[in-house]
Amino acid sequence: MRLFDTYSRGLVELPPLPGPIRMYFCGPTVYQRIHIGNARPFVLSMWMKRWLEQSGYDVRLAENITDINDKIYRAAPGASAELAAAASRWYVEDTDLLGLGRPDHEPKATETIPEIVELIGKLVDGGLAYPAGGDVYFRVAAFPEYGRLSGREGDHKALHNPSEEAEREELKQDPRDFALWKAHKEGEDTVWESPWGPGRPGWHIECSAMAEKFLGPVFEIHGGGNDLVFPHHENELAQSRGAGSEFARIWMHNGMLELTGEKMSKSLGNIVPLRDAVEEWGRETILLFFLTAHWRKPIHLSDAVLAQARAQAETFRNYFVGLEHEPEEPERDELARVLDDDFNTPDALALFHDWRTRGRTASLLWGLALFGLGSLAEAASAPADLVALAEKRSKARASRDFDEADRLRGAIEEQGWEVRDVADGFELVPK
Ligand SMILES: [Zn+2]
Repeated sequence: MRLFDTYSRGLVELPPLPGPIRMYFCGPTVYQRIHIGNARPFVLSMWMKRWLEQSGYDVRLAENITDINDKIYRAAPGASAELAAAASRWYVEDTDLLGLGRPDHEPKATETIPEIVELIGKLVDGGLAYPAGGDVYFRVAAFPEYGRLSGREGDHKALHNPSEEAEREELKQDPRDFALWKAHKEGEDTVWESPWGPGRPGWHIECSAMAEKFLGPVFEIHGGGNDLVFPHHENELAQSRGAGSEFARIWMHNGMLELTGEKMSKSLGNIVPLRDAVEEWGRETILLFFLTAHWRKPIHLSDAVLAQARAQAETFRNYFVGLEHEPEEPERDELARVLDDDFNTPDALALFHDWRTRGRTASLLWGLALFGLGSLAEAASAPADLVALAEKRSKARASRDFDEADRLRGAIEEQGWEVRDVADGFELVPK
């Protein structure tokens, strides 16, 4: 299998079976319910894990929860710890709705402080970091590789670390430097001890420490959104390699979810939190929506594309209605051809439709299940009592007792199903 790597700007082969394949994906900063766009790296990482395991690899996935960050302090002055704890639970609840399972490790920054302090100490001892006014800064000038990941090397100005994290510019020896440790400030309700005084870690060092704690000094894949290449991942790389670890071998950056390009309806604007989107559209529609775009490309969200994704879900669901299939071997190689080539999910989706039209039921079931869509086949079989109600309704219609037919339709709908009249009878579809 090969994947596009941001660092080398080309396709890189994964090691031979059975690996291991160790993966670290940057998870959310927890201060609110996650939005559907935040779910993209989660979905990608879980799909990758499932496919690689299916391929015979020994996979370990760590996906962190950033629960110490300026955004959290700002969102809940004096109560950031409570907010972060609640929002961490929301994140797990909301991503659980997708039915893709969970990463092997979901470390939190608050649980990794000793490792973070140790890593900063190593950088200070090695001359790659310096304490200043209770803070500690990374000394970019001491790390010549700085800027290579983001392609900004040589462009001094483009490498100035933005002060989104409220850093004290006057303490920096170089505007490219960034904070590893920040002295405790008035109004921050969480604080930890360190050799440089009380404070808390910077965002970037948290991920370096968490990745190494669970995956070791070298691992195969580091993932996250495109928006993290600079400065977050550039800084992670500098910290970890500066401290002597090889760190990630492949950097995979997913494209952003974009709401632009089409006027959004008010309803969609209101359902952008993942939880609401799943409630409104159903988990299968959301997963099919993510399948439609290659992970490296932007993905455009609108009512129209969600409606198209829902129509595709219906097409697959209808295919399985009342279908008896012969046991056959899934055509694994056909799917491997597209997934092993930079994990091309739009081509996988096209293959699923091809299998559907060619009546390759076993392959289709297997392929959909891999992406968490096996329920499209299961949902086709409604509970027996509902089927009995629908049959009664068909008889009522046949004898032109439309009042009784309507009553039975209502009874079926009350149980969350919709009965539809089709050429050769009826079908039951979950609402
Ligand atoms: Zn990170």
